[in-house]
Amino acid sequence: MTTLNEFSSCVAQYDPHALPVTAAQAIVREWATPVTAVERVPLHDALDRVLAEDIISPGDVPAHDNSAMDGYAFRGTALAAAAASDSSTVELTVAGKALAGHPFSGAVAVNQCVRVMTGASMPADCDTVVPQELVTRTGDTIRFAADAVRGGANRRLAGEDLARGSAALLAGRIMRASDLGLIASLGIAEVPVRRRLRVAFFSTGDELRSLGEPLDPGCVYDSNRHTLFAMLRRLNIDPLDLGVVRDQPAALEAALRSAAASADVVLTSGGVSVGEADFTKQLLQTFGDVAFWSLAMRPGRPLAFGRVWSGERPGVGRPALFFGLPGNPVAVMVTFYQIVREALLKMAGATPRPVPVLQAASREVIRKRAGRTEFQRGVAERDAHGQWHVTPTGSQSSGVLSSMSEANCFIVLDHARSDITAGESVDIMLFDGLI
Ligand code: AMP
Ligand code: MG
Repeated sequence: MTTLNEFSSCVAQYDPHALPVTAAQAIVREWATPVTAVERVPLHDALDRVLAEDIISPGDVPAHDNSAMDGYAFRGTALAAAAASDSSTVELTVAGKALAGHPFSGAVAVNQCVRVMTGASMPADCDTVVPQELVTRTGDTIRFAADAVRGGANRRLAGEDLARGSAALLAGRIMRASDLGLIASLGIAEVPVRRRLRVAFFSTGDELRSLGEPLDPGCVYDSNRHTLFAMLRRLNIDPLDLGVVRDQPAALEAALRSAAASADVVLTSGGVSVGEADFTKQLLQTFGDVAFWSLAMRPGRPLAFGRVWSGERPGVGRPALFFGLPGNPVAVMVTFYQIVREALLKMAGATPRPVPVLQAASREVIRKRAGRTEFQRGVAERDAHGQWHVTPTGSQSSGVLSSMSEANCFIVLDHARSDITAGESVDIMLFDGLI
């Protein structure tokens, strides 16, 4: 069995004490294997789930050629006939009408037309629609300029949206509103999705108190569990809250092993910074393995990644991937989004797409040390000329969670970069997406 340790040491730039963010992401990506179980759910329950199989269109959408306009359907050859007779006007007789859901079933001669509304099936002989505003109608006769439309105009073709047999949606997609509509347009009511990923999490620290408990001197309320719960729910992952675990090796070991028994991934916060790290690392090596425990990243330097087993040694019981996140509340969020998120999506069976990154001019000087990737919190806005600007939120301390609430983006400062001058361009990752 290849251990994470053996694997990781082959990755370029491997340095377990200060691993570059891109190398850490590569290691994590490699070890994130998708869950395989598939379940079929009613269409509405498919929102935000991961599609397990391609959805193949069982028919054409739309099923029939139909009109894109309110107007009159006719044979395009009538235009050529008008040109041949040197007439600049086309004159046709209205033979009937077709509404959406009420087709016209009669025959249409070259000097005839059918009143059609948007979405109405095209009468069998017709291929062109002249919009009603280009027509003058007197009784059952319409007239319009021969150059008002070209043959074939204003007709939507059968299969134009989805052709029969083509893949409407590919497996691995996280389904959103348009996908539910698309699946419904195919007449499909049940959707194959991957089972949800289960992620267990707990906080470590003797100083932590849970909500409802009195706050003893020197203690803090445990906020990380609530942030983690919310971040997991946003990814539509099953969160399993295992509470607070005290800083005792036996308690930590028991919590990790029971978490591995019931979840695909175990997330912890706290207990991985210098001093505490050695003990966590040693513990992990008894019933799991550790790939790295320190990143060239700020915030988020102390971050352990490995695998734990529910049994008493590696290879015994059930395995789960393990992320030992830092204790500081901002570092928890930054490491979750930059290191953990993509792995969770991949394990959930999704094909993660790169997060869009924009360029913005920094409003301020930003202090930055070369040799680590920094993720500062920023407020980005667009000026009247369409140019993006970003201002770092006041405190960049990894303990100040209000900086995350205030910010609307991460300012991403690459590994090699040093100080940023005011006006210099930086990468930003916006928190909000539209859909
Ligand atoms: P640690 O990594 O355990 O040394 O923790 C670093 C800092 O984060 C300390 O100030 C902790 O009190 C704080 N911290 C750790 N875990 C939590 C938590 N679950 N909620 C809020 N603050 C925490
Ligand atoms: Mg601690």
